[in-house]
Amino acid sequence: MLTQNLGYPRIGNQRQLKKACEQYWAGKIGQDELNGIARKIKQDNWQTQLDAGIDLIPCNDFSFYDQVLDTSLLLGVIPQRYSPVLSKVKTNNEIDLYFAMARGYQKDGLDITAMEMTKWLDTNYHYIVPEFTANQEFRIFNENIFSEYNTAKLQLGEKAKPVLLGPVSYLLQGKEKEQGFERIDLIKKLVPVYVDIINRLRQQGAKWIQLDEPCLVLDLSKKEKEAFDYAYRAISNRVSGVKILLATYFEALLDNTGLALSLPVTALHIDLVRAPEQLDEVLALIPDSLQLSLGVVDGRNVWKNDYEKSLSLINKAIEKLGADRLIIAPSCSLLHSPIDLDLETAIDPEIKNWMAFAKQKLTEVNEIRQIAEGNTTLLEANKAAIESRRSSKKVHKQDVKNRIATINDADATRQSAFSVRQRLHQERFNFPAFPTTTIGSFPQTDDIRQLRAKFKKGDLSQEQYDQAIAQATVEAIRWQEEIGLDVLVHGEFERNDMVEYFGEQLDGFLFTKNGWVQSYGSRCVKPPVIYGDVSRPADMTVRWSKFAAAQTDKPMKGMLTGPVTILQWSFVRDDQPRDITTNQIAFAIRDEVVALEEAGIGIIQIDEAAIREGLPLRKAKHPHYLDWAVKAFRITASGVQDKTQIHTHMCYSEFNNIIEHIAAMDADVITIETSRSQMELLQAFAHFEYPNEIGPGVYDIHSPRVPGIEEMASLLAKAADLLPVRNLWVNPDCGLKTRKWPETKAALENMVAAAKQARAQI
Ligand code: GLN
Ligand code: ZN
Repeated sequence: MLTQNLGYPRIGNQRQLKKACEQYWAGKIGQDELNGIARKIKQDNWQTQLDAGIDLIPCNDFSFYDQVLDTSLLLGVIPQRYSPVLSKVKTNNEIDLYFAMARGYQKDGLDITAMEMTKWLDTNYHYIVPEFTANQEFRIFNENIFSEYNTAKLQLGEKAKPVLLGPVSYLLQGKEKEQGFERIDLIKKLVPVYVDIINRLRQQGAKWIQLDEPCLVLDLSKKEKEAFDYAYRAISNRVSGVKILLATYFEALLDNTGLALSLPVTALHIDLVRAPEQLDEVLALIPDSLQLSLGVVDGRNVWKNDYEKSLSLINKAIEKLGADRLIIAPSCSLLHSPIDLDLETAIDPEIKNWMAFAKQKLTEVNEIRQIAEGNTTLLEANKAAIESRRSSKKVHKQDVKNRIATINDADATRQSAFSVRQRLHQERFNFPAFPTTTIGSFPQTDDIRQLRAKFKKGDLSQEQYDQAIAQATVEAIRWQEEIGLDVLVHGEFERNDMVEYFGEQLDGFLFTKNGWVQSYGSRCVKPPVIYGDVSRPADMTVRWSKFAAAQTDKPMKGMLTGPVTILQWSFVRDDQPRDITTNQIAFAIRDEVVALEEAGIGIIQIDEAAIREGLPLRKAKHPHYLDWAVKAFRITASGVQDKTQIHTHMCYSEFNNIIEHIAAMDADVITIETSRSQMELLQAFAHFEYPNEIGPGVYDIHSPRVPGIEEMASLLAKAADLLPVRNLWVNPDCGLKTRKWPETKAALENMVAAAKQARAQI
């Protein structure tokens, strides 16, 4: 039985890569130094995997920004608009072309936009979307994969396994940049380049090559299935002497099982963490010639593997195939895990004993193999840890379990229908047409950030800190009053992050010091870890909301993060289904909503920025997810009286296929991101005759650009053509925390003027 790894985090255990890239971009270090830091990270990673006893160790999984962008450069898929950069950079600093594609290029009199970025399947990792044209050509454009293999070989010998995104998934994860063709039809042109690459790697000495085809777990059209068949047949016909490992992950193969098993490759990798149930069918249908890689260690989470559970899967496979045909592996690339649990010195040791990060997961893979081969002594410590977690009072809180065991429809239903509530809100607040508001946060200036940092370090007393936050809040309120906004916000100056702020105050969450995961390019996130039943020991936002409300006669919006978003942006428990964890969070937030109402806050916003991104990869699984996700939101919103107005906010989302579920959330007001699409996203709401109130964002907060009055007024006119005026609100696209004050003030002044103009026209 072999062991393998599919990919290792490349940011470095102290985020060395992030720091190096940012210094390079700022011109503070040169290319040699950047390359040196990269080389060191790679070598350390390889050594770690070697020491852990992994047999097939990935190379070419390193990336300065994103592995999909690396693939585009390898294949010469460089959009036309970068030609001026291409001619400027000499062969020895191709990296500047690469970063230009990732980040845009504004120098030497050029102003070229970056390539689009989007989420990698259902992860929080963002990749750079390949752009294809009708006459797209492919060729080996750079040598990185070959030189990296050579370096890896020196250190790893035959264990070095180059990794490459497979040709079909590469095309499918990209985008047509002009009309009149389908990108999947490019497969015939693309495959010969893959054949050349594989043959060159084989000549260099590669024994195994890993081709990632995560799209094999998606709903595929007939044509897409044929492309898989074509590509892998063509590759197998034209290369020999090298073993191809086809890697799938994040879901079960389901109806693509037959297809995946029919492809002429040496081994197939399947994800048995997400989809352990697929093993039976795979074992029933697997052809004699195929080896199977069992992804039993979770590459997407932070928990210690349950060896007995993994072994029961492995033993099933041994029985059917024999140990020789099996490879033990993590479920997917460890890119999505934090790097090293050993660096966490502040986590409660009892809980730490239940956890594993990337480095520890490698050891798990190796231990599982040894146990499967008969060394059962390794089982004991694992069993003890799993049992301690199963029975720990830190995890299990009977009162929390009881509360969600009895959820009924009344818990998830407002007292009266929206039409009744709307009338009450009109009487209570007496807003003009096109009421104006913002999404919650105001600029997090350097001063505010430093304040928090100093407070955390202990350089500032609680009193000094509170006073400074209070002052920022009061100033923001005065200023909102001056420009004439209708519903004010307190500005969220006291919050570091919309999930962390709540996680820090809820029971059942813990935070790491170094648990960074790459989000995109040099940006890393440190998600909270939900380890136990979630409850709310005390009020979380009431104090600042009350303080803010007392500063003004205008309505002050209370500001909370919704349960699905908290779930989605955390590492979650793997010992209970996601919907149960979400319901626990939902009740905690519900209690906070009620506490705000009791404190006199009449308008409360519950942000569900991440509801859309939680959608499962397979359409057949959407209804179940949407059911519980919507219900969790309704639980948070339904503890209050009719007179309280509940808002929600969602970031950029395609609402077309989920509009009925958005409506089922029954928020009194929803604010959404629409300005970049010129209100296009509102069509779905219009079509559905969305009944509740809605604030389509009238300006894009992602850039410092100040939109003019006319521009926003015309977007409002567009919105008014689509939806009843009495239901429309006026607000920016999202929170303003990443902006600076001058542009924020100018833009919001214009926004209020645009609303006034719109009012005058009815
Ligand atoms: N209330 C949050 C803010 O304004 C919402 C952020 C978000 O949607 N991502 O910052
Ligand atoms: Zn948003």
